[in-house]
Amino acid sequence: LHGDPSCLTTELRESLTKLSTAGDVQYMFGVVGIPVTEIALAAQELGIRYIGMRNEQAASYAASAVGYLTGRPGVCLVVSGPGLTHALAGMANANMNCWPLIVIGGSSERNQETLGAFQEFPQVEACRLYSKFSARPPSIEAIPSVIEKAMRISIYGRPGACYIDIPADFVTLEVNMNSIKYKECCMPPPISMAEASAVCLAASVIRSAKQPLLVIGKGAAYAHAEENIRKLVEHCKLPFLPTPMGKGVVPDNHANCVSAARSRALQFADVIVLFGARLNWILHFGLPPRYQPDVKFIQIDICAEELGNNVKPAVTLLGDINAVTKQLLEQFDKTPWQYPPESKWWKSLREKMKSNEAASKELASKTSLPMNYYTVFYHVQEQLPKDCFVVSEGANTMDIGRTVLQNYLPRHRLDAGTFGTMGVGLGFAIAAALVAKDRNPGQRVICVEGDSAFGFSGMEMETICRYNLPIIVLVVNNNGIYQGFDAATWKEMVKFQDAVTVAPPICLLPNSHYEQVMTAFGGKGYFVQTPEELQKSLKQTLEDTTKPSLINIMIEPQGTRKAQDFHWLTRSNM
Ligand code: ADP
Ligand code: MG
Repeated sequence: LHGDPSCLTTELRESLTKLSTAGDVQYMFGVVGIPVTEIALAAQELGIRYIGMRNEQAASYAASAVGYLTGRPGVCLVVSGPGLTHALAGMANANMNCWPLIVIGGSSERNQETLGAFQEFPQVEACRLYSKFSARPPSIEAIPSVIEKAMRISIYGRPGACYIDIPADFVTLEVNMNSIKYKECCMPPPISMAEASAVCLAASVIRSAKQPLLVIGKGAAYAHAEENIRKLVEHCKLPFLPTPMGKGVVPDNHANCVSAARSRALQFADVIVLFGARLNWILHFGLPPRYQPDVKFIQIDICAEELGNNVKPAVTLLGDINAVTKQLLEQFDKTPWQYPPESKWWKSLREKMKSNEAASKELASKTSLPMNYYTVFYHVQEQLPKDCFVVSEGANTMDIGRTVLQNYLPRHRLDAGTFGTMGVGLGFAIAAALVAKDRNPGQRVICVEGDSAFGFSGMEMETICRYNLPIIVLVVNNNGIYQGFDAATWKEMVKFQDAVTVAPPICLLPNSHYEQVMTAFGGKGYFVQTPEELQKSLKQTLEDTTKPSLINIMIEPQGTRKAQDFHWLTRSNM
């Protein structure tokens, strides 16, 4: 659109302007203190929802999730020094995930700098590694234009984090309003399209594929490309594989989804189209032995620097995923083509899906106690509302949960992501619950946490209860990190020796009653050990839309995922 402004009708121009102003920042998360309390108060006065969290880390995670879910950055407001360093975690995570985020940090008074001021720290410099843009406005008058620049940079091109530094003395300074030239907020990001010849070439490479595969990443989800990608899948009858957060762009239960044959699909495809998914560890770098040495990659991405990373792509399509998918669709509209549904490739994928699904179902049907992961997730899946947000983290909990818990809507799964960050879950769940509350009241957020992952931000239970967000937290509790020990073994271990000397690094206190962290603040808590108890508590929590709840689910402490065909599949997330 930006390429040729003359083609914009007045109406479209108006609606775009409306969009850009109506789409201003809606949510601010933070922990207040000197010198930023006034900023939070002012934001509330302007109608921005301010959510006070218990740690800046969780606040920055929440703000970044809002950015992913809404396409407009959430703001994280922090105090100087340690407040800011805690928030670096969320900035790094947002930048690695390519999600927009704006962090506003208070900092020490300018005239005390270098004297050893309270919480003095080189904040602007510290944030450079974690952001696309990091700056301190040179004067109060300059604040609006720096904010505008941060907003714009956070959502234009590849989205990411931005930092704005506000020295303590700014907060108390007075300013003549007339001297401020208010700068209107930026337009929505310009939409770029791929070169026509590259689109033609991509279509012809797809047509000539013997074993094609579409990989749908979280870039496609962020780009709202669901409608067009689904059309492409269905018009051309192509198999697709979502990445963890690409789940739901096309529903997981779509007939062309080959998630259950993930390894085979990646290993034997001869043409792979990447819709906003980087060839990093999540996709095994695009290299053998996980791929054919001569596989042809077609990369679609908004970031030119990404194109060609790790592999030499057959075709690169630089542009917005939604627009580029539309361009591809036009090619197949002009000259219709379908991948034959009776091909050997489809047969081989279907076979593998069937056997993998049968193996998980068998594990799920085990009635021995404590329950295993599969039993737990099959019961959860049975009751999961189709439109719910699924937030998930923990090693096995997230990996196994992903294969069983289905997503039917785009941008409805949030997890440890590109950076593999544990501790994001509760902040993400709070963000999703706020977005749900505003857009679609009654929509639920299910936060599936490992017991270790839960520990990183467990005190956010108070935040959840304070704002009465009806989140359902499931703690899948195996008494440890990856694995733990049962109570009897633990007792034996520490009987004659100090726990400090003998406790294995992976173990956590057995049978911890995490549900009491929820009840401490007035939410509902359940401690469950059997499938029946799990079913009953889930039913109750889903029926009660007025209260948050936590179900602490005891599972086999030594349980792990089902046997994998390849040793390289044993690392978390792979
Ligand atoms: P996943 O973890 O699902 O594999 P990644 O985070 O690795 O996904 O990749 C997402 C990619 O999507 C990034 O390379 C990013 O530049 C790209 N991207 C984000 N928004 C858009 C967009 N609107 N159009 C095209 N590409 C986008
Ligand atoms: Mg655990």
